[in-house]
Amino acid sequence: EEVCLRLNVDATVPPDSHPAPAPIESFTDMNLHASIMKDIAFHGYTTPTSIQAQSMPVALSGRDLLGCAETGSGKTAAFTIPMIQHCLAQPPIRRGDGPLALVLAPTRELAQQIEKEVKAFSRSLDSFRTAIVVGGTNISEQRSELRAGVNIVVATPGRFIDHLQQGNTSLSRISFVVLDEADRMLDMGFEPQIREVMQNLPKKHQTLLFSATMPVEIEELAQEYLTNPVRVKVGKVSS
Ligand code: ADP
Ligand code: MG
Repeated sequence: EEVCLRLNVDATVPPDSHPAPAPIESFTDMNLHASIMKDIAFHGYTTPTSIQAQSMPVALSGRDLLGCAETGSGKTAAFTIPMIQHCLAQPPIRRGDGPLALVLAPTRELAQQIEKEVKAFSRSLDSFRTAIVVGGTNISEQRSELRAGVNIVVATPGRFIDHLQQGNTSLSRISFVVLDEADRMLDMGFEPQIREVMQNLPKKHQTLLFSATMPVEIEELAQEYLTNPVRVKVGKVSS
């Protein structure tokens, strides 16, 4: 089956200097894998929201993204759909492999919502596995899931670092990272854990950072860990 995994961009230009791709008008504008398209429809999404229209083509083009949008604007699908598509372009996961993509979110509840959406948009894909790694739940079950090999890990920063330190997972294959609700993660004191992850990623990776507010701490984090990011802003956003 022939799958076009990227939007058409000039391959002779390094990915971080391509012009930002134009917003999409429809989910059909992105050459998404047929299974993902089917799952989007099954999930009941017919039209992309503003943050989705602007962020998805950027994420699919390989550029880093700094997304600023209020709660309820549809950020989850804005990153989960490109993340799944990204994973499909990588060599398949085998037992013992580290994940291809990582989402860090501030709370267990948020991570669970994100995992639900990842599962919804990958339900028709064969052997596409996602693990959720959060505190307050059985760590040994999470360990076996991680060791079996997963495409995507959705995690809270503290528990993810615990698993890294125990050697249950690794950063070695990660090429796509999402920091969701980054402002809340900083408010909750997760900056050391975020830095620990970001500093030890493989050199070649893409980062999407979403935040409802843009305080100076977020600008600094973006400055440090994002490469020439495309900025996407939806609604009124305070600093
Ligand atoms: P955010 O992360 O920005 O707070 P969510 O991703 O949680 O927003 O989405 C908010 C609500 O909007 C959810 O109930 C979600 O299912 C719904 N939603 C998101 N995108 C779409 C869409 N394209 N069409 C219809 N509903 C959507
Ligand atoms: Mg959200």
